[in-house]
Amino acid sequence: MSRNSFADYRVSEEIQRALEVLKYKTPTEVQSKVIPAALENQDLIVKAQTGSGKTASFGIPVSEMIEWEEKKPQALILTPTRELAVQVREDITNIGRFKRIKAVAVFGKEPFSKQRDELKQKTHVVVGTPGRVMDHIERGTLELDRIKYLIIDEADEMLNRGFIDEVEAIINELPSNRVTMVFSATLPMDVENLCHKYMKDPLQIVIEATGVTADTIEHSLIEVKEEEKISLLKDITVVENPDSCLIFCRTKEHVDNVYSELDRAGYPCERLHGGLEQEDRFSVMEGFKLGNFRYLVATDVAARGIDIDNVSLVVNYDVPMEKESYVHRTGRTGRAGNKGKTIMFSTPYESKFTKAIEKYIGFEIPLMEAPSYPEVAAGKAAFEEKLSGRRVVRNNKTARINQDIMKLHFTGGKKKKIRAVDFVGTIAKIPGVEAEDIGIITIHDQMSYVDILNGKGSLVLQAMENATVKGKKLKVSKAIK
Ligand code: AMP
Repeated sequence: MSRNSFADYRVSEEIQRALEVLKYKTPTEVQSKVIPAALENQDLIVKAQTGSGKTASFGIPVSEMIEWEEKKPQALILTPTRELAVQVREDITNIGRFKRIKAVAVFGKEPFSKQRDELKQKTHVVVGTPGRVMDHIERGTLELDRIKYLIIDEADEMLNRGFIDEVEAIINELPSNRVTMVFSATLPMDVENLCHKYMKDPLQIVIEATGVTADTIEHSLIEVKEEEKISLLKDITVVENPDSCLIFCRTKEHVDNVYSELDRAGYPCERLHGGLEQEDRFSVMEGFKLGNFRYLVATDVAARGIDIDNVSLVVNYDVPMEKESYVHRTGRTGRAGNKGKTIMFSTPYESKFTKAIEKYIGFEIPLMEAPSYPEVAAGKAAFEEKLSGRRVVRNNKTARINQDIMKLHFTGGKKKKIRAVDFVGTIAKIPGVEAEDIGIITIHDQMSYVDILNGKGSLVLQAMENATVKGKKLKVSKAIK
């Protein structure tokens, strides 16, 4: 049965409200199939691409079914990359904002102790990469006895990265009385085997690939010699003059080269590859999302699962060696009904990979000519003008959901024996404020954070300057982060 409104699902008012703010009006195909089945606690194997809305398809039912009072994690979501873990955590936090769902991301290259401290707090959902999740399990910092939902996201990529054994080891640590959902863009044998070994009568849901075949993406191919790629890239960007552009390279050396060339030529650009520090990778990703620069040069680390709104042009500067990468890379454009364009540079050496991609996607990528000199000259003025202006991002979901929220910082926490209920008790008594206006509460040893929703932050801030929590006077201020 196809449903065309989220209101048709058995989903609480708090979740519905978040979907409204996120501007999710109608369920996507994968959502219309997954949400009702997941709400019935059905094990699921879902073949769906990123861009199909798959994160919300599990994020909505999981957020709905979480019991808020329970302190220990109830859902575990495994992802192949750190970036995807952070993205999924953000999506779940947005969907569960008004229910005050606390989601924590755990991944390598971030201090273990920071994650351990986060996991000590009430945590509803843990999102993580297999290696770090296993670390937490082994060191006893992640409790699993209340896990009711296991989601394996991008299972085929777990396989490609050799994580399947770790995934299996994690599954063996989980309570058997749980719901398991596996999401994958393709379903190789090893993934299917894993599913059949660990799932109960899984329902298989297949969403036809929308990434490649979507008529919202215009595909083109240009034949070029390796040494002419940089100047071709510059010409293409002038003629296409994209609002935002992702340029994919095969190696981090290529990324560095292309980035330096563009940077030197005055392009507002950044780069992203696995050789950069984690913090830098996040800040680059965030900067691109916020529109701080227009051009992002990246290896495939940025292609998988990362939700960057409305990239107008994707350039495959190098032909991807793996045909699936083409789908993931190009899937960054033409999302959510927007028009997108993708251009691939193919050298004579790369033509065999290009052929393999065409076979995989089921059509020949139309050849296009490199822009002529007059075309480039004609585009120059408009191009220069756009380069000097800031990119306007119309649809930053997290910003939208956060705009009504103020995070307050209190000096005082566990050491003063303060608990979340103490804050709720005090804040909900302020005239004009109700318990519903209180969001996520995080208590550390010496300090606490309380999210105040619905634009009531200033009111609470003012009132708390003269109030006490559990009989104690705490200093309150607007949190910096
Ligand atoms: P995903 O496949 O999870 O990476 O999601 C692709 C994009 O679609 C993300 O930007 C989501 O925020 C967005 N999205 C998900 N569900 C909906 C919906 N029902 N309506 C509009 N946008 C959606």
